Amino acid sequence: MPVPEPVHPPLIIRGAVITMDPNRRIIDNGAVVVQGTVIAAVEDWEHARVSHPTAEIRGGRHDLVLPGYINGHQHLTGDRLIQSSIPDDLSPGDSIFNWAIPVHSAHRPADDELSATLTLAESLSNGITSTFEAGTVAHPTRVVAAAEKLGVRLTIGTWGWDTKGGPFAGNVEEVIDRQRQLLDTPTGPLTSAWVSLVGHDLMSDDLVIAAADLARSRGVGLTFHMSPTAGDVDSYLERTGRRPLVHLGALGVLARNVAIAHGVHVDDSELDVLEETGASVISCPWAYLRLGQGISREFRHLDLWRRGGRLALGCDAENAGDMVDGIRTAALFAGLAKDVSMDPTCLGAHDALELLTIGGAQALGVSQHVGSIEVGKQADLVIHDRSRLEWVPPSPDPVLQLVWGSDGRSVRDVYVAGRRVVHDGAVTGIDLVDLKRQATLTAAALRDRSGVPSVSRWQIH
Ligand SMILES: [Zn+2]
Repeated sequence: MPVPEPVHPPLIIRGAVITMDPNRRIIDNGAVVVQGTVIAAVEDWEHARVSHPTAEIRGGRHDLVLPGYINGHQHLTGDRLIQSSIPDDLSPGDSIFNWAIPVHSAHRPADDELSATLTLAESLSNGITSTFEAGTVAHPTRVVAAAEKLGVRLTIGTWGWDTKGGPFAGNVEEVIDRQRQLLDTPTGPLTSAWVSLVGHDLMSDDLVIAAADLARSRGVGLTFHMSPTAGDVDSYLERTGRRPLVHLGALGVLARNVAIAHGVHVDDSELDVLEETGASVISCPWAYLRLGQGISREFRHLDLWRRGGRLALGCDAENAGDMVDGIRTAALFAGLAKDVSMDPTCLGAHDALELLTIGGAQALGVSQHVGSIEVGKQADLVIHDRSRLEWVPPSPDPVLQLVWGSDGRSVRDVYVAGRRVVHDGAVTGIDLVDLKRQATLTAAALRDRSGVPSVSRWQIH
């Protein structure tokens, strides 16, 4: 006779619940009932308490409960161990050739795991529960190990480019083989893989067509970088006579499973292609500002949004925006929209929060599982502590206060698939003291091995 599975008592998480459901319901004195890994009910606190008398109760009336935030573009290796070290006054290309390539080349498997652990731990502590890796991981199994230790949701990529001269470059067959191997790598319930190319002008037509075929045949996403600056536009025009997204559209590689990182310098014909194919764009506004890439002049992400296009937000890398904080990113996106359009009625806090949650989930094809607090979805939840000074006095509109008046610092607890992975502001899956010690030692060794400069513009005495 089969032994019945033990039924754990449900968990009730109390607070003001910003559901991000289709009606954008906010339940002021609300509760989320979690059973195992999923959301079993979203209702008034009184009702939840009475209907689930055996439940364990966490949180309080003044907490703010949101769906986990979604970071659509994040490099997990390379930058983290030289965080905020690449000067912000370098000419274009300098940071790639004198910093990024030497550091990535010097990364050992353990460095990948440590680097990913740091980024994902910081992400979690700021409420980011789903991270989409940007496609520059050399040792994927180590990064998956980091994610599983922390209990965070991760879609991972690996290096893919077929131009000569750089680390991890190969011919089409080799690159596709590496992508296939990654898709075949066993992952846990919270981790998965997608096909990732570095993109820009570092992929031949044959490579991107083969990558799109592979992604389609395996039912996974495809991502690559394109047009954060006008440089990609120039090189595509020269090589193909067409702008990048028009060319890629004509090759037949763009579709709803394709997520393009950046797409800052796109014209109307490229917006048409995005609309026709359903390919999405991931906007990383802090990176464009730190790197001087022109977002405040070419804010076509706003035009894409106005057309109803598919858009997610990303935090990019720790030398391109640096801080991994979704709320900060959402606030910047909304501010840019208002300022560039010189229209205060344009895209505001509520719209930006959509991009960070349900809108981002839709753009990345995961909205059936995450992105909102709805019955049957995964219990990925972020709890903000509204007793902190930045939340006092409380605004009658918590979304305004969340996006404009706060950031990741007020995140107190985080749940992924029903499991508490941040408790009282501390990540639970790792020894933070040991992590900090290891990171400091390893970063110094990595600097030595890679030969990147250790510089400060102003002399430190
Ligand atoms: Zn990137």
